[in-house]
Amino acid sequence: MALLPLVFYPDAVLKKRCADITQLTQATADLVRDMAETMYHERGIGLAAPQVTQVIRLITIDVEPDQGGKALMHLINPVIVDHHGKTVYEEGCLSFPGIVADVKRKDSVHVQAYDVNGKELDFEADGLLSICIQHEMDHLNGITFVDRLTPLQKKLVLKEYARIRQEMKEDRQDDIVKSILGPDREHLS
Ligand code: ZN
Repeated sequence: MALLPLVFYPDAVLKKRCADITQLTQATADLVRDMAETMYHERGIGLAAPQVTQVIRLITIDVEPDQGGKALMHLINPVIVDHHGKTVYEEGCLSFPGIVADVKRKDSVHVQAYDVNGKELDFEADGLLSICIQHEMDHLNGITFVDRLTPLQKKLVLKEYARIRQEMKEDRQDDIVKSILGPDREHLS
């Protein structure tokens, strides 16, 4: 079991088109397990392999994380073969900490994929599961949720993101100063 380091926008790996998985090995099974563990740890409901630097077509999802892992699923080489309707949902992304935005999606999707044992999966998803699958599958094609916004919305969201990133950076610098000076000497800074 291992927690994997997350990749944050604008890391170039988030722009890459991921390759199909052609062989299922113990390493694939280990990655599925580690991605699920990382997803729960980061309090996400979905994670795509490129978000942990792996440029392959694998996602993990659990849209009911309070059910103790019962709703956990992983999809290998997923494909949307059909879709119906439209919906809008306020999405966030582990690769964009602090940012949410309303994104237009298909309402329901018909998905085909494989699991780590090579079993074929074929199912319809709607609601939050459908939205989450579309968000994570976008990552496999180098698309992030801000790419689904209008140019103006995207500009505003990225400006806010830059502000949050700057704050995080300053917080980290404060932490470094505190760790050097010690917490009792915080008033000196
Ligand atoms: Zn995401």
